[in-house]
Amino acid sequence: VLSGSKMWITNAPVADVAVVWVRTDERVRGFLVPRGTAGFETREIGGKLSLRASLTGELVLSDVRLPADAVLPGAAGMSGPLGCLDQARLGIVFGVTGAARDCLESTIGYAVQREQFGRPIAACQLTQAKLVDASLELGKAMLLALHLGRRADAGTLRPEQVSAGKLNNVREALRIARECRTILGAAGITLDYPALRHANNLESVLTYEGTSEVHTLVLGQARTGLNAFR
Ligand SMILES: Cc1cc2nc3c(=O)[nH]c(=O)nc-3n(C[C@H](O)[C@H](O)[C@H](O)COP(=O)(O)OP(=O)(O)OC[C@H]3O[C@@H](n4cnc5c(N)ncnc54)[C@H](O)[C@@H]3O)c2cc1C
Repeated sequence: VLSGSKMWITNAPVADVAVVWVRTDERVRGFLVPRGTAGFETREIGGKLSLRASLTGELVLSDVRLPADAVLPGAAGMSGPLGCLDQARLGIVFGVTGAARDCLESTIGYAVQREQFGRPIAACQLTQAKLVDASLELGKAMLLALHLGRRADAGTLRPEQVSAGKLNNVREALRIARECRTILGAAGITLDYPALRHANNLESVLTYEGTSEVHTLVLGQARTGLNAFR
């Protein structure tokens, strides 16, 4: 019998089934909760300024009675949810490089076309510095993603390495999106160019799948052996 609630669940308003991780009398266990189960309801969260194409909502479980086969048999303890998170976070390490690349390529295309004072703004030294910094960080982010992917394939990827990839690549993708936005000038605040849309969406990515602060603490613990989570 499950009771509790959880905010900020992607696709909660439309999902046919929820995967719910629960602290039981013994260990953390995973359960499948189909929509329509008595005591289970979902509520949509409105007013989002980020990831607006994706529905987000709350799961509410009030004395939800489930059959014994609703429990995920192979997962007991935190390794179950943390294993899922490692998979999702590795996807983010790659995904955000795509957002950054879209920002950079579209911005270079704009900067070589857009003329001010008789020459393209891409010929300005400050603009080139921004584009070069963004290119360096994007290249490093892509190489980091590739390296972590190879470690995952080899079965040697450690959770703190995923934290390093998630923390670095989301942070740098967000910086690239914001810097590209400045090169686009006023056009950068519109939907004509992707930079601000990506920047807004990356704000969510900075928070979900482990906030940047929590990944910093994971890495701090890995480096020092000391837990600073509380
Ligand atoms: C669009 C979107 C979709 C999401 N989808 C899902 C989903 O499908 N499933 C799911 O489970 N969750 C989902 N989330 C939730 C997301 O994982 C949480 O928002 C995130 O874990 C942060 O929790 P919180 O919002 O309650 O912030 P809080 O926990 O209140 O944190 C607020 C701030 O305090 C900091 N903080 C908190 N504790 C500490 C600490 N110990 N030390 C230092 N700093 C700390 C945080 O880093 C953050 O900066 C989604 C969120 C968004 C925005």
